[in-house]
This record gives sequence, C-alpha cells and structure tokens, in this order.
Amino acid sequence: MLGTETSAAFFARASAVIPGGVNSPVRAFTSVGGTPRFMVSAAGPWLTDADGNRYVDLISSWGPMILGHAHPAVVDAVRAAAGQGLSFGAPTPAEIELAEEIIGRVAPVEQVRLVNSGTEATMSAIRLARGVTGRTGIIKFAGCYHGHVDALLAQAGSGVATLGLPTSPGVTGAQAADTIVVPYNDLDAVRAVFAERGSEIACVITEAAAGNMGAIAPVAGFNAGLRDLCHSHGALLVVDEVMTGFRVSPAGWFGIDGVAGDLYTFGKVMSGGLPAAAFGGSVELMSHLAPAGPVYQAGTLSGNPVAVAAGLATLRTADAAVYAALDANSERLGRMIGDALSAEGVPHRVQYAANMLSVFFAEEQVRDYAGAQAAATWRFPAFFHALLERGVYPPPSAFEAWFVSAALDDDTFGVIEAALPFAAKAAATATSPAEAGQ
Ligand SMILES: *Cc1c(COP(=O)(O)O)cnc(C)c1O
Repeated sequence: MLGTETSAAFFARASAVIPGGVNSPVRAFTSVGGTPRFMVSAAGPWLTDADGNRYVDLISSWGPMILGHAHPAVVDAVRAAAGQGLSFGAPTPAEIELAEEIIGRVAPVEQVRLVNSGTEATMSAIRLARGVTGRTGIIKFAGCYHGHVDALLAQAGSGVATLGLPTSPGVTGAQAADTIVVPYNDLDAVRAVFAERGSEIACVITEAAAGNMGAIAPVAGFNAGLRDLCHSHGALLVVDEVMTGFRVSPAGWFGIDGVAGDLYTFGKVMSGGLPAAAFGGSVELMSHLAPAGPVYQAGTLSGNPVAVAAGLATLRTADAAVYAALDANSERLGRMIGDALSAEGVPHRVQYAANMLSVFFAEEQVRDYAGAQAAATWRFPAFFHALLERGVYPPPSAFEAWFVSAALDDDTFGVIEAALPFAAKAAATATSPAEAGQ
C-alpha cells in the first residue's frame, strides 16, 4: 500500500477549518472513499503528494493543464508578470492580447469580457441573455454542469451528480422555476418546451459537448437544432465551452462542429491553471454590457495580469503538435482502458467527446444523464483505487471526464498499462448493491 499518513493528517486538519476538508467537493473522494491526496508539486504529467507518492495525472486540474504541469513557457510568463505587479485595478495591455487570442480562434466571438471563474462566466452570460431578450426562462440539460450558479444547479452534473443531489438547498423556488431541465441529446423535448413557453425563454444553455456526466458528445444535428429552435423563437443559444474550449481543438468544440452559438463561455485551458475565465459573443450582444450598455457586470480582479499571462502563454504554446498529442494520448488511453476491461469481461463503454473521454460501466452507448446514472457506477470505486494504488490518478468520480495532457509519454503510459489489469480485475470483482443486499 502507498503511504498516505501525511495526506490523512492533512485531511483531518483541513476538515477542522474547511467544510469537508476541501475547497471543491469532488476532491474529497466522497463517492470513491479513501484518503484524498494532498498534492505538493507537479511537473509535466506527474503529480507528487505530501507522502512523496508520484501519480500519472489523468485529470489535468479538471482540464486546464493541456501542456502538463509547470510548463517552462507558462511558469516564465507568470514569473515575469508577477514581477511587474500583481493587480492594478486598471486596464492592462495583456488583456487585449488574451481577448484577441480568443477571438482569433472562435469565429462567432467578436468581443469577450474576462472574469475569474467558469461559474462567473455562465452567470454573466445568462444575465446578459435575460437583459437582451427581456425574458426570464432558461432551458438547460440534465447532467450538464455550468458552475454553481443558483439557477443552473438543477440536475447538474459534476460534483452535484457525484453527491447524488437533485439541486442544492439555498436555491430559491423562484430561481429553480425559471430553469426548465430537459434530457440531453433530445431535440424533441426542447421543441416541446418552446412550443409551450417559447415567448418566456431567454436562452438555451448547453455544454458544447457534455463532459460533466462523463463524456457524452452531442448526437449529429443536436447543437445545430438547438440554434435553429432558439432563433425561431427569439431566444439565444449559450454554448458553454468552459471544458471543451481550447482543449478539443484550437477553436474548442466550435472547431469540431462549426455550429455558431450566440454567447460563449470559456475557462479552464484559457487561463492555464490560474483563476480566469471569459464570456463573449457578437459586438451587438456584448455592447449591452456595462459600461457600454445597461447590463451590469464587474470584477475587482477580472483580467488579473498574472492569470492573463498564464492563459496567453498556454494558448500561444498550444500549437498543432500539442493538439495532435492530446488527440493521440486520449486515443491511446481509451484503447488501453478498453482492452483491459475487455480482457476481464467487464461490460463497459469508453466514450469520447473529441479528446475528452470517460469510462461507463454500461452495455450500451450512453447519450444522456439517465443513461449515465443507470450504469454500474458501483464498479468505479474499486477501479479507481486500484489505479491510484499503482500511481495513476483518474478522476475520483464515475461522472467526470478524464483529461489527458500533451506531456504524457511512453514512460507514463507504461505506468498506466501496468496498472490497468489490476483495475480491470477490481472492477470485475466489485460487489454490486444487489449482491451486497442493499
Ligand atoms: C468547470 C465548468 C464550469 C465552471 O467553471 P469553474 O471555474 O469551476 O467555476 C462551467 N461549465 C463547464 C462546462 C465546466 O466544465
């Protein structure tokens, strides 16, 4: 067994001063059990915990670290920016460069506003959609996660799914009532809502490809169908690319399906591991934002120079070779996982949304949240811990995507390949709730 005494001691100490011992729920290992590992450093594809154990990182900080950890180009840019001052509360030239970099990659986006988290980006995009249309209703999809915005927590994926919550106490009835939740990949359900309440709907918000209930790509025509339904009813399509943006292609999911939404949200990769995010759209829509227009939105640290430097350095380093490596690494990982589970006869689907992937212990292709929940998620904790024990760090939840970096190499794939047979065996012999008599 790997030594985990130091992490265990940190977790106990953290639990006294931080709710649940963590600053974001999935980190607590609630659904897989065991001791959350407290990390002290990371380099390239490796994480090192407080007990000195090394892990091949397959979550990449939940997406941002496409270049691997502590990439010299990014660290140098951050050092240089920090030396010039940490925050000014005034505009800086680098913010223009980051905005130009984003706009240059995603054609439907003509202007962006920088914020501090993906949550802020979706919250602000929703406010803008409501402000522009004068309507209140939002359509979202079950299992899609858009940050912890009150109105968007209904049947959200990610940690909300991991903890099995329908929504959250503290979200008012009024906020929930304005949110209409429909199954992902079900255009007919969206059509029916528009037929009944079309004049109330400000926007549809969707993950460009779902990654917070496991990786589930939109079926052919789904995103385009959403755009057409929105436009025939005077509503806006908000495409949430916080996870997919600048990961699945240089232009995110837009670079894959070419469907132009009205508003976009970005985060994760665009700030290279520091807290920054963005939302954007046409000049016409974005000019409704203060100070150009009446929809208020602001942030003391928005456009922070250190975060902007990390984002710019990450995007500028992410050339064609990096995207080719991400695609190849995702394919290689998915194939290894599939082979190992097949060898043990474990029913499974390795599903991809471009280079994001996840493992469903299901017989059929999973296309929505109901399918993700129906999978044999009880196999996951054993699978997870067998990997962790052998130095591989996958997401600690059956409902999260796995994120490769371009830094994975033959050495790290060797570690993964050596660990997988044990994990597959653990998944095969895991006890189902029925067998456990629950
Ligand atoms: C991570 C994520 C968010 C929230 O971003 P935070 O920075 O965690 O607030 C929003 N939307 C999607 C699709 C995400 O994956």
